[in-house]
Amino acid sequence: MWFRNDLRLRDNKALYAAAARAKLGSKKSVIGLFVISEKEWASHDEAPIKIDFWIRNLVVLKRSLEKLHIPLIVKKAATGSQVVELIESTVKGMDVSHVFWNVEYMVDEMRRDAAVLKALTKNPGIYVEQHDDQGVVPPKEMKNKIGEGHTSFESFRSTWNTLVETDPHYLQLLPVPEANPIEAKQLYAEYFNASVPPYHPHSLDMSEIEQLYPAGEDAAHERLRAFIENKIMRYHLTKDSLTEEDDTKLSPYLSNGVLSTRQCVAAARAANNNKIIVGNEGVRTWIKEIIWREFYRHVLVFYPRVCKNRAFKPPTDSIRWSSDDRKFQIWCQGKTGYPIIDAGMRQLNATGYMHSRIRMLVACFLVKDLLISWQKGEKYFMSHLIDGEFSFNNGSWQWCASTGAESQPYFRVFNPVVQSQKFDPVGDYIRHWVPELKGLSDKQVHDPYHAMSAKEFGKLTYPKPIVDHSEARKKFVEEYKRVLVQK
Ligand SMILES: Cc1cc2nc3c(=O)[nH]c(=O)nc-3n(C[C@H](O)[C@H](O)[C@H](O)COP(=O)(O)OP(=O)(O)OC[C@H]3O[C@@H](n4cnc5c(N)ncnc54)[C@H](O)[C@@H]3O)c2cc1C
Repeated sequence: MWFRNDLRLRDNKALYAAAARAKLGSKKSVIGLFVISEKEWASHDEAPIKIDFWIRNLVVLKRSLEKLHIPLIVKKAATGSQVVELIESTVKGMDVSHVFWNVEYMVDEMRRDAAVLKALTKNPGIYVEQHDDQGVVPPKEMKNKIGEGHTSFESFRSTWNTLVETDPHYLQLLPVPEANPIEAKQLYAEYFNASVPPYHPHSLDMSEIEQLYPAGEDAAHERLRAFIENKIMRYHLTKDSLTEEDDTKLSPYLSNGVLSTRQCVAAARAANNNKIIVGNEGVRTWIKEIIWREFYRHVLVFYPRVCKNRAFKPPTDSIRWSSDDRKFQIWCQGKTGYPIIDAGMRQLNATGYMHSRIRMLVACFLVKDLLISWQKGEKYFMSHLIDGEFSFNNGSWQWCASTGAESQPYFRVFNPVVQSQKFDPVGDYIRHWVPELKGLSDKQVHDPYHAMSAKEFGKLTYPKPIVDHSEARKKFVEEYKRVLVQK
């Protein structure tokens, strides 16, 4: 079983199938394999904090597998292409007959898997089985009325809801796989004795990060349970709240596959009298967020150009973006002079996480106020987020930039001050992340440059706004219209 971003025992389709198949083989055993491929990860801008979380989860997974007498072999590949050789040599060297994995849908991953498949199956007696495990409904099972991929979220959601509500197999959860025979302990002793190589190449405070995101399936399920029992019914009222306790922070567990989307939806459905389409508003709103995950993955599968740095709406590829790197760096550092934007970017830099509402604001600001390309923001997010996942990150950035499948209208440009007053009314979020504004009143804190006298503002160690919002908005809208006319 080749583990990738599916680091769990429960409800893991490929692992379950591997264990069932193993019972028919001569050694009756499953062997787990994980390949650390730092070059490949770097080329996908995977954040060090995310890799660190991956590795911490791998350690827990190894321990859990051990209880089932299943060894987990962890190998390092120097390059992406070495992954293929490494898997082939491991499979042949250990006399493995069947190789299982769960499909990853990004273009590079599909190419890599095709190469592994080819290398393995050219050997007589080696078979490969791939499973659609990511998500509730496999992306290719959903098509619109003319047999193509959906491009509208609402039509996707309605089809998804009907399928999942009416066909119980989508939410049937698989149990922990059967254990290997006890003899496997001896047979694979060297792998049980080996440990996962440590990985801490980032400067963030690990004790805090480990507390915020404890590793392992049990921790993920505890977080899900607490949310379902205590908060889901009010999710529609709290989802935009910026207070720490209101975020579920399940996304890192979902992105690493420590938790499956099916497990989340099944738990939410159970709390809602086994309904998805009707019932409690909090539950339905939360499931809707999960459906966004499914939608963006679906878009990527049907329209793989989005994997190649291209906009979903091709004409918007010719928007003339600014190449002002100084402004980009100022945005990255959270020094734009717009407190809500700066708070968000500083939260991201310090913790690898940012609240969803704030992600929208900072993304919209980069693209529409600074006219800097969404690709630059997408890359920066990916290289800093603990929950970074290509399809949701790309889909969400394109939503904010009005270049995506289902996106914000181009003329809708968030006013960062108005949004700040709306979502952080008393300014606590800003004061936490922008301590130089701690002493300001609730009114001043959203827009100190305009809400204070020049003399008072001058005493702050805080920059004045990097752009004038209404002028910047006009510029973006004009540029977008130019592109529309050209089309
Ligand atoms: C510019 C931008 C970039 C983003 N990049 C990522 C990313 O790389 N990885 C990622 O997991 N999410 C991304 N999101 C979506 C969202 O911000 C996070 O999923 C959410 O903040 C996670 O917090 P939570 O687990 O408390 O979410 P909850 O409020 O509990 O929502 C439940 C789950 O639904 C999913 N979800 C929620 N909102 C969205 C959304 N807009 N799109 C897709 N799925 C959603 C997440 O898996 C989340 O865990 C991005 C959003 C924006 C605007």
